[in-house]
Amino acid sequence: MINLDKEIKHESYFNKAENALSQMRILVVEDDEDSVMILQAMLGKKAKEIIVAVDGIDGLQKFRETKPDMVITDIDMPGLDGLQLSAEIRQHDSQIPVIISTAHTNEEFMLKAINIGINDYIVKPFHKNELLMVVSRFARIVYQNREIEHQRILIQLMLDKNPTYIVISDGISPLYMNRSFLNFLNLESYEQFRSMHETLDSIFVPISHGIDSLPFTFTEWFDARKDDYDEEHYIQLKIHCGPEEKTTTFRIHFFPIPDEDRYILFFTDVTYLIAEKEHYRSLATTDALTGITNRAFYEQELSMEIAKHEHYGIPLTMIIFDIDHFKLVNDTYGHSAGDSVLVELTRLVRDHIRKTDIFARFGGEEFIVLTPDCDMDCARNLAEKIRKKMAGHTFAFVKSITCSFGIATHRKGESAQSMFERADAALYLAKAKGKNRVEVENV
Ligand code: GH3
Ligand code: MG
Ligand code: MG
Repeated sequence: MINLDKEIKHESYFNKAENALSQMRILVVEDDEDSVMILQAMLGKKAKEIIVAVDGIDGLQKFRETKPDMVITDIDMPGLDGLQLSAEIRQHDSQIPVIISTAHTNEEFMLKAINIGINDYIVKPFHKNELLMVVSRFARIVYQNREIEHQRILIQLMLDKNPTYIVISDGISPLYMNRSFLNFLNLESYEQFRSMHETLDSIFVPISHGIDSLPFTFTEWFDARKDDYDEEHYIQLKIHCGPEEKTTTFRIHFFPIPDEDRYILFFTDVTYLIAEKEHYRSLATTDALTGITNRAFYEQELSMEIAKHEHYGIPLTMIIFDIDHFKLVNDTYGHSAGDSVLVELTRLVRDHIRKTDIFARFGGEEFIVLTPDCDMDCARNLAEKIRKKMAGHTFAFVKSITCSFGIATHRKGESAQSMFERADAALYLAKAKGKNRVEVENV
């Protein structure tokens, strides 16, 4: 199927190139009035503007003032002749097409014209078709060069204004870096960068890349991944830029430049996003008062621990405990004193449990310790240890408090709820038997 859009675009570009002459401002330098009239008659309607200069000196001045797109100059003129004028123009502009109009085309003259950098010649007397052919050809070149320059500026702008840091590299040294990246490094130019650093390793020092924390360099990291260019990579880097060091987490994309041993790397600074994500994760998973795991996150963890327990057969035990007479604490000392008890108690328990234990605030003054790889006896010992610690501790304001404990171990195939109910029943029993004690599930 024909891509209409593409076809139309292509055609419009082609038309534009064909009509390039209509966009040209042509400087005609000619001391012979008849020749000027003929050139104006032949080109006047086709070009955008014909600027006329009456001799070489006038031609040079008008070239400087009007900045034309193309120059057609006579050879024999008083003051500054056509070749001298062309040489002067070439000093200022190496690109502009300079066409000479001449009656003589001998070899020596032509060589001289070529040396000066004249692009072409038209022979007098002028033939309209020949003239239009030559002028149109150069108009297209001017137009195309302008398009290329326009696109170059656009690409440069897109690269430099892009907040993503863009680096071209052979995998070892950076060969190009965009303006945003130079700004990030507090550098003026790529040359300044090269005068300070040889390789990517001298600015990028990886800090971590997920679970693997072996020492490695950035170039080693890249070398190991350079074939995975359709993947997203995250890496935390310490960036050496001048006297400063910045720790930044980047999302990195890269791809090889076709037929070259070079890569384009895109570094997106996601430090802020990661910190924000961590902040929200922490808000969603921790209890605001005590800073320990909240009920919602505990429930997620519990189902994961049960799955592990089922799979590996490792024991999993749950201790629920509840502060005794806490309502009285609040009523006697006030709610904020009650709050401080909750915080202090949390700290005490934390000191007694393992890193792998999950400690959560289940409700008001009710807590859970989930102890993977710990059977009933082990959990009972732990609960007793916590109970004694609590009962013997002098709390601020309140002085002393006690807690009651209920324990249950997970039975193969049972639900989290069922396990909880057995632990809760044991806790109820502890309360019923006088509080400040540990009771285990009914077996
Ligand atoms: P028991 O010994 O039977 O457990 O009695 P209790 O008074 O501890 O239990 P009850 O369930 O009657 O009261 C619990 C109290 O805990 C009531 C409630 O105001 C208090 N509480 C719940 N959450 C908080 C909290 O975040 N801060 C404070 N200060 N108090 C809380
Ligand atoms: Mg209570
Ligand atoms: Mg309670």
